Amino acid sequence: MNLLIRGGRVVDPSQSLDAKRDVRIENGLIAQISEHLEPDDWGFGETGVVDAENAIVAPGFIDMHVHLREPGQTHKETIATGTAAAVAGGFTSVACMPNTKPPLDTPALITEVLRLAGEAALARVYPIAAITKDRAGRELAPFWRLHDAGAVAFSDDGSTVADARVLRQAALYARDVPGVFIEHCEDPALKGDAVMNEGDASLRFGASAAPGLAEDVIVARDLLICGETGKPFHLAHLSTATSVDLVRFARSRGTACTCEVTPHHLLLDDHRFTDFRADAKVNPPLRGQRDCEALRAAVRDGTIDVLATDHAPHTREEKAGLLADAPPGFSGLEVALGAYALALPDLPLERFVALLSANPARILGIPGGTLRVGSLGDVTVFAEERWTADVSRFQSLGKNTPFDGWTFPRRPIATVVAGNLLMYRGRLAARTPV
Ligand SMILES: [Zn+2]
Repeated sequence: MNLLIRGGRVVDPSQSLDAKRDVRIENGLIAQISEHLEPDDWGFGETGVVDAENAIVAPGFIDMHVHLREPGQTHKETIATGTAAAVAGGFTSVACMPNTKPPLDTPALITEVLRLAGEAALARVYPIAAITKDRAGRELAPFWRLHDAGAVAFSDDGSTVADARVLRQAALYARDVPGVFIEHCEDPALKGDAVMNEGDASLRFGASAAPGLAEDVIVARDLLICGETGKPFHLAHLSTATSVDLVRFARSRGTACTCEVTPHHLLLDDHRFTDFRADAKVNPPLRGQRDCEALRAAVRDGTIDVLATDHAPHTREEKAGLLADAPPGFSGLEVALGAYALALPDLPLERFVALLSANPARILGIPGGTLRVGSLGDVTVFAEERWTADVSRFQSLGKNTPFDGWTFPRRPIATVVAGNLLMYRGRLAARTPV
């Protein structure tokens, strides 16, 4: 497929490019970037033209923290619906977490996810394998074989590897295996049966709550294990002011760690809970206002490397349960771009794009994240346009978001994967295998 993306402002931090350019994609790869290109310039094959006038053209966005729920929980999401949500939200690639049923802890399961993705996915899918067998935190997963099968990283996400000895051993065993350790940082003992953050909001409710300390102690522990073992760690969905301070401290000592933040932790605090509804229930929980502000500052000062959604779909019935019973998490892919822009209005565009493309590509060691000639023909086009989120229009099976009805200042306009225009102004194309 040949595609010409015309008239847009191309922002590609990987080559320090920020200028009005046309982008030509040929045979699935970036073929040419120039001030003015005509569809006839190469004169063969089908030529699609995408009008990107008044829009920004960026390397395809990568969400490195997504729950696709397949295999095992296809009532919540499938690889087909989850990747449809991805392209609707402007993402060309997703990395999927292994807390499926069964968890992705064998090479055969990684192969199966890649096979399902080959059949049904719109966006590219990069599976993440478990750190421990069955995500149970005791026996180590077979890292080399999982890597050979196609796993790009390792994580017991949804849970913390609670036993420090097991985690240290895992980091030592996996040190030479490509694939970062992605850590979900919540101490199970301090977390207990908490359903929200400990603070004046939880006191008002009398809901069982856990302090930010539950995250902080694990972040500190993991950064020390990362530094000692030399295994690169990526800390998922940081939610506290102390966490980002700890990352700064670890980096000042040369620790090879990276980290991410979600739209909800940037925009929402625990005062969002005004009744016992569970629409904003999530792990780690929404924190205090001071934490939100600290996270936004940490994006601006470069402490945070990646914007990731933690897209965690559930059925409407499941989320309709009360705060204590409903599962944590909600769909994120289709509101993320708008929510990031709302949270970070003064973030330079080049940084915004890097946090969503070049940085996750580098951390995961996957192709993409650049518009250099010869690289993947994956492109996200977005515009500074106001729009209002409507959960009933989600492609995701999980029709839940605390941002339903919110108005955002930025939206995806077109999603291109391997030169195929898969989304244009909210309309999805039929699936073309990538
Ligand atoms: Zn998690």
